[in-house]
Amino acid sequence: MSLLDELRVKPGSKVNLAKIDAGYHGDYEDEGTSQAELDKYCRRLSELQAVMYAENKHSLLVVLQAMDAGGKDGTIKHVMEAWNPQGCSVVGFKVPTPEELAHDYLWRIHKMTPGKGHITVFNRSHYEDVLVVRVHNLVPKEVWSKRYNEINAFERQLTNSGTTLVKFFLHIDKEEQLQRFRDRFEESDKQWKISESDYKEREYWDEYQQAYMDALSKCSFNYAPWYIIPANHKWFRNLAVSQILVETMEGLKMKYPEPSVDLAAIKQLYHAEVAEASGLPPVEAVVKEIPKDKVKKGKKKGKKKKKNKKNRS
Ligand code: AMP
Ligand code: MG
Repeated sequence: MSLLDELRVKPGSKVNLAKIDAGYHGDYEDEGTSQAELDKYCRRLSELQAVMYAENKHSLLVVLQAMDAGGKDGTIKHVMEAWNPQGCSVVGFKVPTPEELAHDYLWRIHKMTPGKGHITVFNRSHYEDVLVVRVHNLVPKEVWSKRYNEINAFERQLTNSGTTLVKFFLHIDKEEQLQRFRDRFEESDKQWKISESDYKEREYWDEYQQAYMDALSKCSFNYAPWYIIPANHKWFRNLAVSQILVETMEGLKMKYPEPSVDLAAIKQLYHAEVAEASGLPPVEAVVKEIPKDKVKKGKKKGKKKKKNKKNRS
């Protein structure tokens, strides 16, 4: 069974995070022996993004959620760096600004979703509005409890419009979180991340786990699946996320668009030396031959002309 099937939250199932081992690493042994596979997936992700950009038909929205120190930033660094920044953006959602709070909670989210040909990675997302908001009673229960259905409808709308959604919950356990907070003291390039509020939030661990379980159970559908990624081992997390992204993108059956120009004619007109080497006939001959050779194109052009004539008259 692929990790895509194994780690996907089945629609309608009830998630119990306490029963999911955050240290799980499937059939993979360790980082060393799986590195080549991760590299292979990352190369494939690059290729797939290039086609997505060129085809300009699909878009991909990746949602990353996790407890503090769960590895969202690391996943972006190690997996999403495979994507060309020209067709990919990462958006982090922080405590809402006064302007954001003056709107409905999906307002700031919807405007950051990807357009055709693009990939957007959400580092935190609209799910915060049923996580931190619920845990800290930032709005009454009557308000947040309606949001699961609202989120499902919103995501349905996105997918109906050609966006593919993939949602990852990076699952670490409480001990691993403390270890990662501790590690930050040892690594000078991580000390900037040390935050007292992270320790305070840790006191609400159980409430967060409950809120996550509800969100994962109520909001996973075939059109917008949640995947629970065992993430105590960073190398397995990267491997699982990249493998699932590759399979998801391959499922879109994307292909490069046909060239929009007549290749032979362009080659002959502007690269005569290349054309000569490939044995193409002289320029005039090629240009004259285009309408006959390219029956389809010729027909279209003919139709267009007729239409234009009609319009003019
Ligand atoms: P970080 O991702 O560590 O930079 O922190 C961002 C903070 O913003 C986290 O503590 C989130 O819980 C918080 N946050 C994100 N979205 C919301 C929201 N809709 N309401 C309240 N807090 C939020
Ligand atoms: Mg934080």
